[in-house]
Amino acid sequence: MIRPRLMIPGPIEFTDEVMAAMGQPTKSHVDPDFVAVFGQALRDLRKVFLAGDDYQPFILAGSGTLAMDSAIANLVEEGDGVLVVDTGYFSERMADICRRYGGRVDLLSAAPGDTITPEQVAERLNSRNYELVTVTHVDTSTGVLVDVEGVAKVAKEAGTLVVVDGVCATAGEEMRQAEWGVDVYLTASQKAIGTPPGLALLVVSPEALAKWRGRRTAVGSYYGDWGPWLPIMEAYEGLRAAYFATPAVNLVEALAVSLKQILDEGMEQVFARHRRISDAVKAGISALGLEQVPTDMRHAAHTLTCPRYPPGVDASFLKEVRKAGAILAGGLHPKIKTEYFRIGHMGAVNANDALAAVAAVEAGLRAVGYAVEPGVGLAAAQAVLTAA
Ligand code: PMP
Repeated sequence: MIRPRLMIPGPIEFTDEVMAAMGQPTKSHVDPDFVAVFGQALRDLRKVFLAGDDYQPFILAGSGTLAMDSAIANLVEEGDGVLVVDTGYFSERMADICRRYGGRVDLLSAAPGDTITPEQVAERLNSRNYELVTVTHVDTSTGVLVDVEGVAKVAKEAGTLVVVDGVCATAGEEMRQAEWGVDVYLTASQKAIGTPPGLALLVVSPEALAKWRGRRTAVGSYYGDWGPWLPIMEAYEGLRAAYFATPAVNLVEALAVSLKQILDEGMEQVFARHRRISDAVKAGISALGLEQVPTDMRHAAHTLTCPRYPPGVDASFLKEVRKAGAILAGGLHPKIKTEYFRIGHMGAVNANDALAAVAAVEAGLRAVGYAVEPGVGLAAAQAVLTAA
């Protein structure tokens, strides 16, 4: 049987070159060849995030949750005001982390499928004093995209730092860290950045580093504290070996390959490809008569699609989709978990992947008795993909 394609919102399919890098004999973490690869990965991370030379990248062994934990552990102190822009499950996780480090958290919550606008954020920032605003660029539980550029702008005007969870967005959704003024942009390796699970990645602005340097109290996390990590990152970037805790050597090798592939394609091309693939999948889904969780396609993510089950269909249909060649994910947001499913299309995806996903959904729907004419979704997707 042909291996079904993994099209959940992370982890995703990785390129052969990335997997080959993972499979190399593991080097010493102080081997000069590895030091050079780590240094390059740090430099390339800055480029993929479109960050300035004075922004500090961190590559840590851990998952996306560690990246969130590290950002907040370093930037939030007891009593700090934090405004959490809440568009779903992962925004609420961010709120929990902020509370754990003593933040005085206010949620600005959207109903599932809705977004929060920069105007709404500005209104809240003007109503009381906040040290930090957090945003989930794409909430993987709703497929909702937030206007990070707009939110960062109003946060700057209010003198508030901005932390963005880009776990389901980085290297898929448009993001220009320096130009937009995002203070911490964080992500994990297993999504559009194209490396197997296991790396937490953060890029930190000079303003956020200054806030961290000015802390009144010690950072409450030992492993996530930027203090011991900063000299390590500086050393590797300067092609010197250094040790605090053992880096995930093979994952860093794989990350370096993936970042190079992304940069070789070019960030503008990467953003445009994700938009086109997403438009094609969404057109296919609509042509099949399925609604989507985002209430307006203008705030729908380009890294995943969240179709609602049509009447009479439930999560058991995903088994049929798998038989037809695509592994998709069920719902995640607790309020609507049983009402929708999720198709990930990020990282090294191409037009054929979009068509394969729509074809598998069509076949799955027919297998569970939902009447669709074969090829209707595919025709709509193909029309987008072949449009001039
Ligand atoms: N934030 C978002 C937006 C995510 O999608 C995820 C993972 N699905 C996380 C945070 C947490 O990342 P991890 O599972 O790698 O800890």
